[in-house]
Amino acid sequence: MDPIEALTEIAYLLERERSSAFKSKAFRRAADVIGSLQPERLADPARLKGTPGIGDTTYRVIREALDGQVPTYLAELREHAGVTPRASSLRSRLKGDLHAHSDWSDGTTSIESMADAARALGHDYLALTDHSPRLRVANGLSAERLEQQLDVVAGLSSDDFTLLSGIEVDILEDGALDQTPELLGRLGIVVASAHSKLRMEKRPMTRRLLGAVADPHTDVLGHVTGRLVEGSRGTRPPSEFDATAVFEACAERGVAVEINSRPERQDPPDELIAIALDAGCLFSIDSDAHAPGQLSLLDYGAERAERLGVPEDRIITTWPLDRLVDWTNRPR
Ligand SMILES: [Zn+2]
Ligand SMILES: [Zn+2]
Repeated sequence: MDPIEALTEIAYLLERERSSAFKSKAFRRAADVIGSLQPERLADPARLKGTPGIGDTTYRVIREALDGQVPTYLAELREHAGVTPRASSLRSRLKGDLHAHSDWSDGTTSIESMADAARALGHDYLALTDHSPRLRVANGLSAERLEQQLDVVAGLSSDDFTLLSGIEVDILEDGALDQTPELLGRLGIVVASAHSKLRMEKRPMTRRLLGAVADPHTDVLGHVTGRLVEGSRGTRPPSEFDATAVFEACAERGVAVEINSRPERQDPPDELIAIALDAGCLFSIDSDAHAPGQLSLLDYGAERAERLGVPEDRIITTWPLDRLVDWTNRPR
């Protein structure tokens, strides 16, 4: 087995099961080290021991791969990876993803590797939506850094794949968005999400979300309740707001309600998806990936949407790119 492929697949599977970024990064780093070596260095694997960037575990993986085996570490991860949601036919009809992060904010890898992974997954498009300035813990992008990022993003599309520029912009306490309107207007996709003060009272929280939905730049309302149902960050109850009012505003303004695929979020909850369906909303099934291996978390969101009877035509991520772009340019 090719050692670079083995190391990369391990990183991918660790990311998908949301292990610590520290762990997956070690495997990505070892893959980079191997990739940069002269091929003859691999002829004598024992000499790789002690090479900077190659530790005991990664050395064992490389050694086993070079010996023609599937490394034990990889074999075990593959076994875990068998635990995935029931395959949904909807998943195969998703054409892209509108919510993903790179190491420009709190993702673990480069923009390039996110784009490569999305392409490898068969996506026609991916929106890169790093965080906005106020989210300092996530290294949110200042206006200057976002402008620089736009140049990088513009260079990464190909004939069969489009990397859309974007942002996951914080919804501030008063409902305003955390980036200049000028810059928001230049982006392909604007996902608006709340990340702080999620325990606000119902009325001000409703006003806050309505403010974000009314902003002419908002395309997608991200993980609307902010709840966490499992995982290393613990659990968090959903925010309280008038869901009917918020989703009716989304429907009226053509803003899509995100179905966030991350297993620890499963946001919105089932009963809120039902309200959004009644209100006539559009939906966007997104991964909210912070690493390449997490792009495939879409499986979970697709399974939920199918189970809850969300009609395919109201899921904008089943639309071809030209229809999606027309929608982002809708008059408002
Ligand atoms: Zn978020
Ligand atoms: Zn996000």
